[in-house]
Amino acid sequence: MDVGERELIRRIRSAIGAPGRATIVGIGDDAAVYEPPGEYELITCDAFVDGVHFRRDFANYREIGAKCMVANVSDIAAMGGFPTRAVLSLAIPERMSTRDIEDLYLGFLDVSKHFSFEIVGGDTVSSRYELSISIALLGAVGRDRVVTRAGAVVGDAVLVTGRLGGSEVGLQILSRGMPRNEKANEAIRRHLRPIPRIAEAQAILDVATPHAMIDISDGLGSELWHIATESEVGIRLMQSAIPVDSAATEFAGTLSSTPEELAIGSGEEFELVVCIPLSEAERTIEHVAAVTGTEMVVVGEVVAASDGCTLVLSDGGEVELPRAGYQHMEPPGDRWGRSD
Ligand SMILES: [Mg+2]
Repeated sequence: MDVGERELIRRIRSAIGAPGRATIVGIGDDAAVYEPPGEYELITCDAFVDGVHFRRDFANYREIGAKCMVANVSDIAAMGGFPTRAVLSLAIPERMSTRDIEDLYLGFLDVSKHFSFEIVGGDTVSSRYELSISIALLGAVGRDRVVTRAGAVVGDAVLVTGRLGGSEVGLQILSRGMPRNEKANEAIRRHLRPIPRIAEAQAILDVATPHAMIDISDGLGSELWHIATESEVGIRLMQSAIPVDSAATEFAGTLSSTPEELAIGSGEEFELVVCIPLSEAERTIEHVAAVTGTEMVVVGEVVAASDGCTLVLSDGGEVELPRAGYQHMEPPGDRWGRSD
């Protein structure tokens, strides 16, 4: 670090600005003091380490800061809430300049300002190793609006926001140093600058009674397994209904995959997967599109636990729903572990 800690704190404080009405003491004291929101509070926490969760040769510090914050905001969205306050701890290696740290903060602030929540404190220490970022995010949710992973009911429709696969394609293009065209750059943006679905979750809750909800951090297949396990149900995912990102369609061949495989395995999409009564699906899709402009589609249905989790292929065949991300080394034709 090339300026004193005091100067850094001064700069960060001025970037963060004055505390909001419900914050009695903000950043800079021994602890923050705030008036808790009227209903339930949410709290979530995530840690990110250079080389494991992000790469400085793929993203700039502002993008890294924003994406780490987005991951937390997305978890609050998936519970049915909205973010209110964050505290963050940074372990900063010697080589990072004050400018780098400020850029990281600008990334955090891009997200906190966009979603109207405050950064009320944190700690910055020096590290002999890689940059490490730890964020705790608080949120608020109405007592009757909490949605967990555990409430899916047999007969529910399974819906997804947005289009899937772009984040994985962006990551692959970066990792493999593939040539860039417009579509490639779009996928890279999708990977580096995701948008959490706070408004979409609220719009869903305004017109429907979601039984279970989760955000896509590991991949659609993996998240559906989480819902199935926690809700003690099975899920049928229709391959033909999966909303595939156009980059996944374009680059699937180059990546020795299929568009649907990319869409099912793509992590860090931060889209929402939600289980709602089938009778509420149509008005939910219409309302979310009208309020947020985000498309939603029905991708499957909740079935009995004894039926398991299956992927219904476009040709009518059925295989067990893939749990993890796709594997590019798998030979074509054996992608879903088909035995027939
Ligand atoms: Mg989550």
